[in-house]
Amino acid sequence: MSDTSPRAYAPRPGVLQENTWPTMRDATWPVALLPFGATEPHNTHLPYGTDTLLGGEVAARVASACIANGTNVVALPVIPFGVNTTQLDLPLTINVMPSTQLAILRDVVKSLEPHGVRGLVLINAHGGNELRALVRELQPSTHIMLAIVNWWQAADHRVFTEPGDHAGELETAAVMHVAPQLVVPDRDTWGDGSTNPSTLEGVRNGVAWMPRRWTQATNDTGVGDPRAATAERGATFMAQAVERIAAFCCELAVADPARLWENPRR
Ligand SMILES: [Zn+2]
Repeated sequence: MSDTSPRAYAPRPGVLQENTWPTMRDATWPVALLPFGATEPHNTHLPYGTDTLLGGEVAARVASACIANGTNVVALPVIPFGVNTTQLDLPLTINVMPSTQLAILRDVVKSLEPHGVRGLVLINAHGGNELRALVRELQPSTHIMLAIVNWWQAADHRVFTEPGDHAGELETAAVMHVAPQLVVPDRDTWGDGSTNPSTLEGVRNGVAWMPRRWTQATNDTGVGDPRAATAERGATFMAQAVERIAAFCCELAVADPARLWENPRR
């Protein structure tokens, strides 16, 4: 009699935390994905882990799509904490500083360097994670090609009535698609995601940028009206994002780091 679970063994291809050492050891992995999430309120209807959930799911689907296409791409575990310096007055929001993110990323890059990884794609799922400065700082000290994808910008927003920003229609639709059991079912309880303008004209007209103090700028922590969201739109958007990101990863897997830009004079 077997004492193992009757459930079939089904690790998702390329998802590191689900796969064994022999599976990973016996292949080469030219591209790795590192998803960046966050732990913060998402209006009144989505979970704190929304960005972590979506970043991890996109990375897993991209890895599977690339592997099915013949390019080995590994999805690393999601970093569950993001930069939330302006939401710390919201209970149980967990902030990591940009300098902490830099330290984590540096250590991940160093860990990957000896193992044949040619490109590392940061799959960002949280607007407060401004990863470009990290990549600008680290790229000169590593041979691994670094790239950033904000997953919510990787597909066509026209599928939505009004995509919104934080916990708006786009994110809500994506969670309804990926984890419908985590979306509060009664839509009448969802906040409308309305926001308040800055009292400073220079911020309102775009001359200056200041980080939004979330409890002043928002009314339900959401930015954007989620109420038109459907799981179908979430599925359409995520499928297109995955397809586009996967296509980029396949390109990156064989890219020549000395010729990432065409220079006719060379
Ligand atoms: Zn979010």
